[in-house]
Amino acid sequence: MTDKAQSRRPIPPATIASKDQKLITTIPIPKQSGRGVIMERGQRLKIINPRGKQIGDLFAFAGHSPDEFIAPTYTMTWNRNVYLKTGMPMISNDSNPLLFLEEDTSGRNDLFYPACSGGQKPGRLASIPNCRDNMTAALRAINFPVPPHPEIVHPHNIFQNSPVIDLDGRIEVREPDAKPGDYVILRALENVVFVVTACSSPGIANAREPKELLMEVYA
Ligand SMILES: [Zn+2]
Repeated sequence: MTDKAQSRRPIPPATIASKDQKLITTIPIPKQSGRGVIMERGQRLKIINPRGKQIGDLFAFAGHSPDEFIAPTYTMTWNRNVYLKTGMPMISNDSNPLLFLEEDTSGRNDLFYPACSGGQKPGRLASIPNCRDNMTAALRAINFPVPPHPEIVHPHNIFQNSPVIDLDGRIEVREPDAKPGDYVILRALENVVFVVTACSSPGIANAREPKELLMEVYA
């Protein structure tokens, strides 16, 4: 950990009152897929859980480079917390705050899990749709360079509910708390490239049914 990450620079206050926000675009994310969007500093991204109980893997890259991206371990140590909560910034692997969580109606977002990969390994294709491949496909679709090692670009696990359950550090995978219509609002602190994947896993973490998500971009 660098001294820079420990410095905890204050996050600038909101510059746009909620009532003045203007919807720029709406981006549906079909089940088991991902979508990307290029955003400017100060814009906001709303991630909506239309049917509830669905995880969104959140990736965000610095607008100037695929080599700088928000990294869960940096977010955890900056905030001194293993969960992502309202009022917390999200920190890059270069120790810069790139995003800020302004609103969160479900209140549960985890930071421990890598993107699901469908069982792929070098020389072996994924067996099912997965967040890693969907992240890289979403970047290609908006003509942003794909990082050379996507397996080390870990998501912030929006709506995921896999808490630490005791002081031994055990983790329990549960269904998301998110109800239909729950959402989070993220403010871009720098120019960023977002990707959100509607997690493809058919497991309990998505209540055994992969579902769609919805993004809205506000200026
Ligand atoms: Zn996934």
